[in-house]
Amino acid sequence: MAKVVCPECGHKFEGSSLKGAAAATAAAALGAKVGAGFGIAGGPLGAIAGTVPGAIIGGLTGYLASNKFYQCDRCDKYFML
Ligand SMILES: [Zn+2]
Repeated sequence: MAKVVCPECGHKFEGSSLKGAAAATAAAALGAKVGAGFGIAGGPLGAIAGTVPGAIIGGLTGYLASNKFYQCDRCDKYFML
């Protein structure tokens, strides 16, 4: 357990890292956002193409680093430390 600060709303809470499926879900959501970001740079079709691989990569990353994901208990945002 560690004190973590939500980057979205600044809420401080006693963080317990997400495990397993929850972390994979959080990572997939982050990955999709990152993938879409790369895709947007490449145009509207790229945005669509970037989302799926982003989610897959994010999911794998979450699986490998599942102790680094937290979910804010105020705004429900997922984030990685
Ligand atoms: Zn928050």
